Amino acid sequence: MFSLLKSKLASFISGLAGRQEKKAQESQELKTPPPSPQPIPAPVKEQKQEAAQPATAPQASAQPAEAQVSRKPESPQPSSAKPSPQKTEEQKKQISLSPKQQPEEHVDVSSLGKKASSEKRELAPKIGLGAAIRSFFTNEITIGESDISDLLENLELSLLEADVAYDVSLEVASRLRSCLVGMRVPKSQLASRTKEQIQQVLESVMQSERRFDLVSKVKSLPKPVKILFVGPNGAGKTTTMAKVAKLLSDAGLSVMFSASDTFRAAAIEQAEEHAKRLGIGIVKGKYGADPASVAFDAIAYARSRSIDVVLIDSAGRQDTNANLLAELKKISRVAKPDLKIYVGESIGGNAVIEQIKAFNQAIGMDGAILTKLDCDAKGGTAISIVHSTGIPLLYLGVGQGYSDLIPFEPRKIAQEIMT
Ligand code: GDP
Repeated sequence: MFSLLKSKLASFISGLAGRQEKKAQESQELKTPPPSPQPIPAPVKEQKQEAAQPATAPQASAQPAEAQVSRKPESPQPSSAKPSPQKTEEQKKQISLSPKQQPEEHVDVSSLGKKASSEKRELAPKIGLGAAIRSFFTNEITIGESDISDLLENLELSLLEADVAYDVSLEVASRLRSCLVGMRVPKSQLASRTKEQIQQVLESVMQSERRFDLVSKVKSLPKPVKILFVGPNGAGKTTTMAKVAKLLSDAGLSVMFSASDTFRAAAIEQAEEHAKRLGIGIVKGKYGADPASVAFDAIAYARSRSIDVVLIDSAGRQDTNANLLAELKKISRVAKPDLKIYVGESIGGNAVIEQIKAFNQAIGMDGAILTKLDCDAKGGTAISIVHSTGIPLLYLGVGQGYSDLIPFEPRKIAQEIMT
C-alpha cells in the first residue's frame, strides 16, 4: 500500500536534506582561511611550465611576481594586491566571530550554484551564502524558496506518477511550500521536521467536513436505513456491500440485501452467495427486472420485518453512460436512499475521480469506498478523492475477506505513508 507514494516523498526529503548538506559544506569551504600570505601567486599554468622547464626559465622561477607583472601589464600593482599583515589579522578575526557577530548581509552567489549545476546534476543547490554561513555557526538551517522550488516541481510530477490527481498534487506542493519556506530547523532535525510537515499537509488534503462514521450515522437514522451502492463493474461493489453488511451486523444492526444489479445474472447470484454466507436476507428480481422495483420490494420487506438496514446493489458499467445514470436516478427516486455510496478501485486513478463527479452530479453522493488498496502500489487515488470531489472517503478495501475493510482516517493514512 502506498509504496510508490512513500518512495516519492522519501526522495523529496532526501533531496532536500542532501541539498542542505551540500550548502553547509560549501559554507565551510568558504569559511576556510586562505593559506599564509604569498607575495603574488603565480598562475598555475606558469608554475607547471616552470616545473617542467626549470633549467630554461630560472628567472621566472626566482621572481614569480615580476614575471606576472611583465606578462600582464594591466594587472593591479603588486603592492596593492599584496595582502597586508593588518588585513590578514582582520580575516582571522572574522573567521573566529561568534554566530551573533556574523554579518547579516546576504551575498548572492547564485552564479556559483549555476556553475555547480552545469557540472553536476540539474538539481544542484542555489546558495544563499549569508544564510549558509549563519547556519554553519548556528547549526541551523533556514529553508529558502530557492532551496525547494525545483524540488517541489519534481514532487508535483512524482505525485502525478503515483496517481495523485493534478489539482491535489498542486495543492500538496503549494501547502508544502508555505510550510517549508522560512522554516528554521537544526540541521540534524531537517529530515524529521520535513517529514512531519509533509504528513500534516497530506492529512489536511484528505480531511473533509462531510466525513461521518457510517455505523453511528446508520444508528442515528430512522429505520429502515437505505444505502445505495453505485460504481463500475468488477470494482468490488458486491463484495464491499457484503463487508459493510458484516460491519453493521457486528454493530448490532439487522441487515439485508436488495439485489438490484439485474443487468447481470451473475451479480444476483453473487449477492445471494454473500447473503447466505453472512446469514442475512435478500430480495432479488429476475435477470433484466427493473432495479428500482426490486429496491422498492426490498424496502417493503425490511419494513414488514423490522430490519434496520437495506443495502441496495446497483448495476455498473465500465463507464458512466446516460442509460446507467438514468437507471440510478430512477432507483434514487423510488428507494429514496438515506446514503449513496460510490465504490471504485483504488488503482482507477483519475477515472475514479471523474466517475464520482458524474454520479454526484446525477444523484448526489454521500461517501466513497475505495477497494483493492492491498493491490495498489501507488495509492494516490485515496489521497485525492476528498480534495478533488468534495465527497468524503469512508473506507478502504484491503482484501477479499469480510473484515478487510478499514476506516479511512486521514491521520493514520498520512502516518502510514510517512513511515
Ligand atoms: P462488482 O462487480 O463491482 O460487484 O465486484 P465484485 O464484488 O464481484 O468484486 C470483483 C473482485 O474483486 C472479486 O474477486 C472480489 O473478491 C475482489 N475484491 C473486492 N474488493 C477487494 C479488495 O479490497 N481487495 C482485493 N484484493 N480484492 C477485492
